[in-house]
Amino acid sequence: MSVRPLKKLRFLIASGPTQEPLDLVRFISNRSTGVMGKYLVEAAKKRGHAVKWVRCPEEARTARDLQKKLKGLLHQNDVLIMAAAVADVRPVSVSAAKIKKEKLKSVSFVKNPDILAGLARQKKKGQIFIGFGLESGSLLRNGADKLRKKNLELIVLQKVTKKENPFGDKSIEAFLLFKDKPARRFEKIHKKKLSEFLIREAENFGLGKN
Ligand code: C5P
Repeated sequence: MSVRPLKKLRFLIASGPTQEPLDLVRFISNRSTGVMGKYLVEAAKKRGHAVKWVRCPEEARTARDLQKKLKGLLHQNDVLIMAAAVADVRPVSVSAAKIKKEKLKSVSFVKNPDILAGLARQKKKGQIFIGFGLESGSLLRNGADKLRKKNLELIVLQKVTKKENPFGDKSIEAFLLFKDKPARRFEKIHKKKLSEFLIREAENFGLGKN
């Protein structure tokens, strides 16, 4: 990439899937691979920015672990990129032993906190929040709702259907919705290139250009 940015920013980047244990052996999670987060970290570093990377599930296993970690780190950073795929629910109780399969007939869940929405309440003037959204239908409408409810500057939307699988190290179709400017669609863009684009967008926000 070319010329260095005028202003060095501090990025807080969360990536990968959270896990919600049911017992000592089992958990629920999702298909996130953490690749986008890895490319975002690389792109931000290449531009000379400071990066704090929180990888799920290694450094924050559950949604509540991640929430606690990010709450403690947010104030030290200018940009939060929430590329973590948070499990929306967790088992109501976690068994301290392996549950016998004969007893494993159904599982009750409780909703996890919405981490971004919570952090939005602690957001300071000038801080930049970038989120991701995965939808099987009504992509733009649901994305616009999330942009507003989670008080984001930018949300990156991807489709997931039987035919469109956005997981892993690959090119994807991406829709970008901004708080203050028209949407943008990439028909096909590699996650590495998209990450570089997103870091540039964060820089523009950082300079008050958006
Ligand atoms: O799951 P959802 O489509 O709402 O995710 C949109 C954004 O919100 C993502 O950036 C995701 O990391 C974040 N999120 C969150 N806490 C949740 C669920 C999602 O911060 N419990």
